[in-house]
Parts: sequence; structure tokens; C-alpha cells
Amino acid sequence: MSDIWGQLTRQELYDCLPPGTLPNRLRTWAQLRPAIHDLPPNMHDLIQAAASAKEGAAADRKRKAKELRQERWHGKQRRKMDEDADRASEGEVQESEHDTTSKYMRLPTAEQHQHCIAAFIDATNNDALASSVCVICMRQLPHEEGDMVVIKDVPNL
Ligand SMILES: [Zn+2]
Repeated sequence: MSDIWGQLTRQELYDCLPPGTLPNRLRTWAQLRPAIHDLPPNMHDLIQAAASAKEGAAADRKRKAKELRQERWHGKQRRKMDEDADRASEGEVQESEHDTTSKYMRLPTAEQHQHCIAAFIDATNNDALASSVCVICMRQLPHEEGDMVVIKDVPNL
């Protein structure tokens, strides 16, 4: 089982507790561990809250850093594509066109991503998936394949 103080430093541990809760002479975790163990449950709650707050902040920082990295990477790819386009317009041989590795594992742009989502919704919404029973063969068919007619309006019936 992990310690309830998680990633907290000694200073952070003392800061999250009311002054004087733990004696200042305790320096190492070996000394602190039994002292913390003897604290009342509400103090344990305080320590746990501070520890999870720190963990949450760390996770948040990690996520933001990742987003920033991806953003930078996209920017780099975009600039690269622009440069390729410039070179192409100047009539140079476009190496990267033949170099398929330049496009390998390239992430879709935000636009492409939105386009895919829209296409997925168009193909899977209630209208697209609606089905009707064909009066000729009695099979359930996609609604789009036929015309919906109220039975009394069918001519010559
Ligand atoms: Zn039919």
C-alpha cells in the first residue's frame, strides 16, 4: 500500500497540517512515519487531501505539456507542408511527394478530425439508419431505398 502522503515533501506535509501537529525535530520519513500513523483520522484526511491535490496538479501539468507538444508538432508539420507547397510552386522536384515516410503516422489536422466526426454522424444518425418494410417482399430495408406511401394512397389498390 502506498503512503497516504503520496508525493508530498516534508515541507508540504507540515504546511497542510495545523502548526505544531507534528514536532519539528522529525526530519526523515522513517521518523515521520510512526508520528503520522499516530495522528487522529481528521489529520490523515488533511494529508490525503493535500497529497491528492498535488497529484492532480501534476497530472494537469503533464496533460498541458502534452497538448503543447502536440500543438508545436502540428505547427511544424503545417510549416513543412507550406514549404513543400512553395517549393512545388517554384517548379522544383518535390522530394517529399515520393518520400511516403513524410506522411507516415501524420496526425489528422483539426479540420480533418471534424470532417471525420461529421461524416460518422451523417452515416449513423437516426435518419441514416431508419428502415422500413417493403410491401412487395416484406423485407426490412433501409428507408432510403424506397418511397414511404400511406397504404390508402397507393394507386390502383
Ligand atoms: Zn421489396
